[in-house]
Amino acid sequence: MDLHQKITELKKQKNAVILAHYYQVPEIQEVADYVGDSLGLSQKAAETDAEMIVFAGVHFMAETAKILNPDKKVLLPDLMAGCSLADSCPPDAFSTLVEAHPDHVVITYVNCSAEVKALSDIICTSSNAEKIVNSVPKDVPIIFAPDKNLGKYIQKKTGRKMLLWDGACIVHEAFSMDKLLKLYKEHPGSKIIAHPESESHILETATYIGSTAGMIDYVKKHPAEKFIVATEAGILHKMQQEVPQAVLIPAPAEEDNTCACSECAFMKMNTLQKLYDCLLHETPQIEVSEEIRKKAILPIERMLELSK
Ligand code: SF4
Repeated sequence: MDLHQKITELKKQKNAVILAHYYQVPEIQEVADYVGDSLGLSQKAAETDAEMIVFAGVHFMAETAKILNPDKKVLLPDLMAGCSLADSCPPDAFSTLVEAHPDHVVITYVNCSAEVKALSDIICTSSNAEKIVNSVPKDVPIIFAPDKNLGKYIQKKTGRKMLLWDGACIVHEAFSMDKLLKLYKEHPGSKIIAHPESESHILETATYIGSTAGMIDYVKKHPAEKFIVATEAGILHKMQQEVPQAVLIPAPAEEDNTCACSECAFMKMNTLQKLYDCLLHETPQIEVSEEIRKKAILPIERMLELSK
């Protein structure tokens, strides 16, 4: 049996579910029970009746699944698969900001640690951030963390002035404007679609801005077009499967002179072999202290409720 077959057998034996993010390598997406963006993955994690969850994504995602499923084993193929955006918001410093603004509602993007979630009022993802911000009464001030680019984009969309945490994702900040415009000239008539974690000047060039799931939906509605895709390049696998006739071109990163695409090194730490090993040995497991979990689950549940 090859690894794919072995994983499929093992997950049946162990009553495990494999949840994978769009940014995972194609062979992991192929073996997963569900591939999605952060919101979809949180919803699947909340509703699964499997006994074990293997989370093919990064640490904060598996942690969110554990917060929602304290009695289940939640496994992450590589425990070192972190996130630069989550790391840009240390809990101690964030706590200081929150304590200094007791009248503010704290909306936190899901890309953060369990400790930061525990300090928040509502979690959001790029799919629902606008709706969540709009759910807060207009006269109530908001802290938005940790992604300043998503925060600026949502400020523009909602007209709400928010206190923004100064965090960012290294992948989405790496897109090169010069190379993007050069690529656009080489592909006249193409449409630029971008994830809102990208910087404002990149977003200003885009025909469509949205979450990974939103970008896939957009391409499905315009199947015969050519797209330059400004987000992590792993999304192209699912997108191309959904819309085989579309021409998909990854947006170029500043430092990238080889494959002209932008990949998240953290997401790519997970491999099919590591996925198999973690399912076989049931390690590494994600643990969250009960004290933090009890606080962190409240803003996640508020998000899930508001996203129905
Ligand atoms: S792409 Fe950016 S935000 Fe997503 S996991 Fe990687 S570092 Fe974090």
